[in-house]
Amino acid sequence: MKYYLTTPIYYVNAAPHIGHAYTTLAADTVKRLKTMQGYSVVLTTGTDEHGQKVERSATAMGKTPAEFATIISNEFRTEWDRLGINYDHFIRTTDPKHHETVRWLFQRCLDNGYIYKGSYTGQYCVSDEAYVNDAKPGDNCPTCGRPTETVTEENYFFKLSVFADRLLEHYEQNPDFIQPEARRNEVLSFVRGGLQDLSISRTTIKWGIPLDGDHVAYVWFDALINYISAIGGPKILEGDLWPADLHLVGKEILRFHGVFWPAFLMAAELALPKRIFAHGWLLFENDKMSKSRGNIVRAEPIREVMGCEALRYFLFREIVFGQDGGFSYDALVNRYNSELANGLGNLASRTLTMIRQYRDGVIPAHSPEVSSLAEAASKAIEQTTRAFDGLEFSRGLEAIWVMLSAADKFIVEQAPWKLAKAGDASRQQLDDALYASAELLRVAVALLHPILPESTVQIWAQLGMTSPLPTFDIRSLAWGQLTAGQPIGMVSPVFPRIDAKSAIDRMRALEEVETARQAKLLGKPVAPPVEAAEPPAGELLPPSPKIEFDDFARVDLRVGVVLSAERVKGADKLLHLKVDIAEPEPRTIVAGIALAYEPEKLIGRKIVIVANLHPRKLRGIESNGMIVAASLEGGKPVLAAFLEDVPVGARLK
Ligand SMILES: [Zn+2]
Repeated sequence: MKYYLTTPIYYVNAAPHIGHAYTTLAADTVKRLKTMQGYSVVLTTGTDEHGQKVERSATAMGKTPAEFATIISNEFRTEWDRLGINYDHFIRTTDPKHHETVRWLFQRCLDNGYIYKGSYTGQYCVSDEAYVNDAKPGDNCPTCGRPTETVTEENYFFKLSVFADRLLEHYEQNPDFIQPEARRNEVLSFVRGGLQDLSISRTTIKWGIPLDGDHVAYVWFDALINYISAIGGPKILEGDLWPADLHLVGKEILRFHGVFWPAFLMAAELALPKRIFAHGWLLFENDKMSKSRGNIVRAEPIREVMGCEALRYFLFREIVFGQDGGFSYDALVNRYNSELANGLGNLASRTLTMIRQYRDGVIPAHSPEVSSLAEAASKAIEQTTRAFDGLEFSRGLEAIWVMLSAADKFIVEQAPWKLAKAGDASRQQLDDALYASAELLRVAVALLHPILPESTVQIWAQLGMTSPLPTFDIRSLAWGQLTAGQPIGMVSPVFPRIDAKSAIDRMRALEEVETARQAKLLGKPVAPPVEAAEPPAGELLPPSPKIEFDDFARVDLRVGVVLSAERVKGADKLLHLKVDIAEPEPRTIVAGIALAYEPEKLIGRKIVIVANLHPRKLRGIESNGMIVAASLEGGKPVLAAFLEDVPVGARLK
C-alpha cells in the first residue's frame, strides 16, 4: 500500500522560518504515522526558484539567479535535515527533470485544447519590469512610484473558465477532497462565483522555464507541477505513486491547490490528488508574523536551546491543526516543563526506576485480573487513532495526556514504595502496579511516536523493547502486549526540566543572530524590531550652538550588543546592562530606558554607546558609558539602531 504526501515547495525569496517548519513537521508526522499503519510512504518537499523577485534579489547581490537560488534552497534543505525531517525527495524547480515535466504537462493540456494564445493587457512598470496587479491606467507603481504603462503582450492562457462545473462536481462527490470544512466552503463559493481563464506564460520574464519561443511558464503553473516531477515526471503513468494521497498547504495557497491544480490535471487527463489539507497561520503572541513587524520566529534557535521534540510537541499540542494559533516562547517552555518534563518524562523515569529498584530491572508478571489502567489505555488508543487519522493532532495528544494523568493518579494510589516495604504480603499487588504502569508507558510511547520520533525511541529502548518502534504496527496496539520477564534497558531521563528565563533569553538572543545571518544571505537589511512605544510628536527643540569637527571627534561612539539586561531594584526607570563593544570585558551600563524596553527583549540587540564618558555611579552601580537614544519630551526613549548589520565595536564617525 503506497501513501504519497507533499509539502508545498518553498519560495527562495525568503529564508526558512517557523511557518515553513510547521507545515514540514506536520508532513513528517503524517509520514511516520502512515508508516506505522503499514503504508510504504513517500514524502516530497523542495524549493520554488523561478520568477522575477528571485532574479532581482540575485542581481542586487551580484549573483546569477541560479547561484542565489542554490544558496537559499540549501538553507531549506539544511534546516529540514537539522529538524530530522524524513523526506524522500527534495525537488528544485531549476532541476532539468522538472523543466521537462512542466513542458510535458503543458503539451498535454495544449493537445487537449485547453491552452490557447491570447493577449494579456495590464499596467506595467518599465523600471521594475513587472506588471502591477490590480492597477488601472494612470496608476503609479507601488514599488518605485513611477507611472505605469498599459502594455499588451501575447500570453498562453489556460481555459480555467470551462472547469467550474467539473470542479464543483468533484468537490460534491469527494467531500474530503479539501479540508478542513471551513476552507472547503471558501473554495466552493469562489468557484461558484465563476472562473476566468488564467494567463500561464510571460514574455517579459527571463528567469523561468522556457515553453516555446519567448514564452516562459508563469511561476504558479511551474510550481504546482513539482508534485509530479518530484516522483519521476512523465514516468508516473507507469507507476502507482500518483495521485498524491495528501497535499499539505498553508491556507494562503489553497486556491492554487484546490482550484487551479485540479483543473490543470483534468486538462492533462491525469488523476486528481485525494486530499488537500490547508492549515492555519502561526501568530506571534497573537500578531501575524511579518517582515515589517519584525516578529518572525525561526525554528533553529528553538531547536538549539530546547530540542526539536519540544517544538514538535508544542506546535501540535497548542494549536488546532487547520486553525490559526499563537506561538510564544513562554507557552513553549511552559508546555515543555509541565507536560513533557513533569508529565511523560517523569512517568517514564519513575516507572522504570521502580522496576529497576524493586524487581531487579525485569518486567514483572501480572495477575489475570485486568488492571484499572487498561480501560484508560484502550480509550486513548481508540481516540488518538481516530484523531490522528483526521489530522486532529491536538485532540489526539489530549487523549494521550488524559491517559498519562490516570497513570499518575494510579501510582499515587498504589504507592509502590509502600508495597515494596510490606514484603511478600503485597508482592502480587506490587507486580501488578509495576506491570500496569510500564504497559501504559509502552502504549503512550507507541501512540506518540509520530509526534515525538526521538524521545519515544529512547523510552521504548528503556522499556527493553527490541523491535524497532518506527515500523511497529500501530493498528495492532492493544493492552497487555508487554512481555513479563523482559529485562528493561538503561534508565536515563528523557526530558530534563528547563529553566524558563535562561532558555527564553538564549532563544531570543540566538533569534537575533539567526535573523541577521539570514538577512545577510538574502542581501537584505536587518529589519529592526518594532517597539510598542510610539513616541508622541513633541515640539522640536531649537538647534544647539555650532561646534568644531574636533569637538565631535572627541566623542567615541561605538556599536555594542546587549549581553544581559536587568531591572535596577527600587528604580523603575533604570536597567542594568552588560554590553559587549569588542573589548576584553563587557561594559556595565545603567540606562534610563526601563519604561520603554522590557529587559529580556534587549538581549542580543545592537545599540550605540558613548564609550569615553567618565564613569558615573547610579544606585550604587558604576555605569561605564551611555546609551544613545532619541529622547522625546514627555515620550519614551527610542534606541538608535541600524538597518544593515554592523560588527560589534565599530566606531561611528
Ligand atoms: Zn516600479
